[in-house]
Amino acid sequence: PPLLVAIDGPAGSGKSSVSRAAADRLAFGILDTGAAYRSLAWAALRAGVDLDDERAVLELLETWGFTITMRGEQWVTVTLPAEEGAASGDPVDVTAEIRDPAVSAQVSRVSKHPAVRERLNEMFRRIVAASGLPGVVIEGRDITTVVAPEAPVRILMTASPEVRAQRRAGELADMSHEQVLADIAARDAKDALVVDFFTPAPGVTLVDTSDLNFEQSIQAVVDIVRA
Ligand code: C5P
Repeated sequence: PPLLVAIDGPAGSGKSSVSRAAADRLAFGILDTGAAYRSLAWAALRAGVDLDDERAVLELLETWGFTITMRGEQWVTVTLPAEEGAASGDPVDVTAEIRDPAVSAQVSRVSKHPAVRERLNEMFRRIVAASGLPGVVIEGRDITTVVAPEAPVRILMTASPEVRAQRRAGELADMSHEQVLADIAARDAKDALVVDFFTPAPGVTLVDTSDLNFEQSIQAVVDIVRA
């Protein structure tokens, strides 16, 4: 089985970009679990499914084909049912769409459902086990505690709220710093009701990237893996 590197943290901690770059450097795969929750939210919004309805969201997850691939630039595709898509059963690449602020604002409504989380966690474990890769970096909110608590490397990545908002504002050029700060705080507050991703669980290494640049953050992760 692949060597697992579990990384959790809040939005804007650098988790996603740092995990990706560290995985590249280690020649490991990368599994962005947030992308799965985002795809599900995107699909639910598109299908007109009530995001607060656990059964309906679960049914969507079972009936729509979700594919998440792990190598290099991660592609996230959703296979639309025949009556929905222009071409029946063709996968639609939603890699860009799922980063839309409209999806970010709604995603906590699907990730709060325990049965949905359980189903996705099974998917994540299957993808990793079947990867055939020497190692996989899995990043999310509950990887170190729920998805892969047995991972030999477990990291909680944090950064101060100001730094996190600055980083996100850099990605979302059309939004003000204040707006980004408010959006992140609102999403974190909702997500933290489900999973605590601010306190490192026993045995989890805390990496605070507030005073680290991108390169230093990547190196911190690589050093922990190679130690
Ligand atoms: O990591 P990212 O910000 O893309 O995650 C999007 C959303 O997916 C989070 O706001 C959270 O609601 C959900 N999520 C989760 N558990 C994970 C990863 C993401 O609940 N392991």
